[in-house]
Amino acid sequence: MELPYHPNEELESVITNLLALVDDDPLREGLRDTPARVAKAWRHWCGGYRVDIAELMKVFEDGAEHYDQMVVRKDIPVYSHCEHHLAPIIGRCTIAYIPDGKVIGLSKLDRLADAFARRLQVQERLTSQIADALVEHLQPLGVGVWVSARHLCVESRGVQHTNSETITTALRGCIRERDAARAEFLALARS
Ligand SMILES: [Zn+2]
Repeated sequence: MELPYHPNEELESVITNLLALVDDDPLREGLRDTPARVAKAWRHWCGGYRVDIAELMKVFEDGAEHYDQMVVRKDIPVYSHCEHHLAPIIGRCTIAYIPDGKVIGLSKLDRLADAFARRLQVQERLTSQIADALVEHLQPLGVGVWVSARHLCVESRGVQHTNSETITTALRGCIRERDAARAEFLALARS
């Protein structure tokens, strides 16, 4: 799949120009195929812009429509890039919702997280977008999203050589408002 508005060759030439500016020998053998590889990698890393969220969130009719307890997917891998430095954000995500008649396949939660992660992001927005998509398309009683991630732009620069994690949460509906539901979700996410 192509990045919107940017043909392959255009992206490759941007990378060629970047190499000429950052490397002291940009014509060496090891960098020969780098522009094509990097262009391909960025099309993947930004592939989330092209995911149709409504299509992805199509409701799954399997007889579980009357299930009304918390559904939780824990430790979904998150690979994103920060929009300030284009540096990797690497982490994991726990997504929970309490259905109100509409349920989706569990793997869809992984794909939802991936669709928003594979964009240029800030962690707070990534977390909210996942929660808001579930609210919009499933109208559940409650949603909880918990993201824990490392930011290479923070860790690799300056004096902050740390592997500390940044945690963000987005709570909606009864998981936000009811103490017991909120505590249940946060305990599951942190465990
Ligand atoms: Zn950054």
